[in-house]
Amino acid sequence: MRRKLVIGNWKMNGSLAGNAELLSGIAAGLTSSGAACAVCVPAPYLAQCQSALQGTAIAWGAQDLSAHASGAYTGEVSAAMLADFACRYVLIGHSERRAYHHESSELVAKKTVAALAAGLTPVVCVGETLAEREAGQTDAVVREQLGAVLEVIAAGDVARIVVAYEPVWAIGTGKTATPQMAQDVHQVLRAQLAEKDASAAAGVHILYGGSMKPDNAKELLSMPDIDGGLIGGAALKAADFLAIIHAH
Ligand code: PGA
Repeated sequence: MRRKLVIGNWKMNGSLAGNAELLSGIAAGLTSSGAACAVCVPAPYLAQCQSALQGTAIAWGAQDLSAHASGAYTGEVSAAMLADFACRYVLIGHSERRAYHHESSELVAKKTVAALAAGLTPVVCVGETLAEREAGQTDAVVREQLGAVLEVIAAGDVARIVVAYEPVWAIGTGKTATPQMAQDVHQVLRAQLAEKDASAAAGVHILYGGSMKPDNAKELLSMPDIDGGLIGGAALKAADFLAIIHAH
């Protein structure tokens, strides 16, 4: 049985004062019956998370990292730097980075390798656009995106990744995939993981993301292959984030 995992993706939101309030609100409301949880925050706030969350049940992480180890890469943040701030997770290949920063599946794969080498848990994000769904290409698109990663990691590392299925048309739009639509894709992804390592696939967390809210979380999380959520908008309010963490 996979324990549910709920990760907040703050995107480019936050301030020192606002984060302090949000983090203490989450910490105060968390109970042992909730899902495992984490927040992925803008890099400047990792130190704040480390000091505020150390010793709590809330893990923290980043939203991106460089595929390079160090050197002349102005503006980039390395896996080792994230590890220095005790990050557990790093989001990789979020659709906003694929779309606005032209990240290819090959780059996403390289970043996944960099994260694993530093001992981080990569949260590999995949998902189709509306046009791709309407053209019947959903399975092919997500299989290409996950396939690029599986091609370069060792079979022994399959158990160390988290996958997040986020249909692009559902992100920040208020449109959620139905539980069955999401389940169908999660099943495809788990089967693909099993092609690489059959025994590890059953233990990999496959999260759903895209307008997951307190009022639809329970239904989504009740599906057999939906192991948690990657939460954007609803992760910015302690009450909403807590409701999702306790929804299952
Ligand atoms: P949303 O974002 O919950 O605001 O739709 C999810 C995400 O992009 O990770």
